[in-house]
Amino acid sequence: MSYRDIIDRIRAAERAADRPEGSVQLVAVSKQQPEERVRAVLGAGHRLFGENRVQEAARRWTPLREEYPDVELHLVGPLQTNKARQAVELFSTIHSLDRPKLARKLAQLAQERGSSPTVFIQVNTGKEPQKAGVLPEDADAFIAEVRAMELPLTGLMCIPPVDEEPALHFALLRRIAERNGLEGLSMGMSRDFETAIRFGATHVRIGSAIFGPRAPREDPAGKPS
Ligand SMILES: *Cc1c(COP(=O)(O)O)cnc(C)c1O
Repeated sequence: MSYRDIIDRIRAAERAADRPEGSVQLVAVSKQQPEERVRAVLGAGHRLFGENRVQEAARRWTPLREEYPDVELHLVGPLQTNKARQAVELFSTIHSLDRPKLARKLAQLAQERGSSPTVFIQVNTGKEPQKAGVLPEDADAFIAEVRAMELPLTGLMCIPPVDEEPALHFALLRRIAERNGLEGLSMGMSRDFETAIRFGATHVRIGSAIFGPRAPREDPAGKPS
């Protein structure tokens, strides 16, 4: 697999779903990848990257952005409130808004800065205890709460349970988005992005299928950002 193959498969999936070419954005998830692989994808002209930890993203992208100032970064992993300030400085979009406390912090930072990253609300469609996200039955109320804070909410995000049919989860996420008038759907990873595109994904988050297997972290039990 390679970057070019993935682009071709995304375009083919758009056509198969009768969706306009380019309606699906590829967030290339570069976490834990060696720099040479990331550079290869930059060299192919790609500029939209996803990371799941704030500190790791800052380490990698602060120097790389000197060379590639037009890179756009999306945070796809959980965000601790005490790292929110650094996150809003680094990322143009946050895919993982999942609780009122974080929403209030982002709203406060937006006030202060006069701008805010675009946000997706993460929904825990599989109701998995170890996973972030609001429960499906709490989503409507949380969406209303985030809207009342005037954060630039664009859509919803989910990560289906590994052992379940992802289509059911993508369909559920789309239903919640539709009844709330939200257009953005961040769903689909290496193993299921074509299904996600069939169900209306606007952003697919793909790591290993582009870059290859990830190196294990030195602190696998370390705190999420
Ligand atoms: C790591 C990660 C991805 C990419 O996963 P792959 O299976 O390598 O495509 C997508 N979304 C989130 C939230 C991730 O943490």
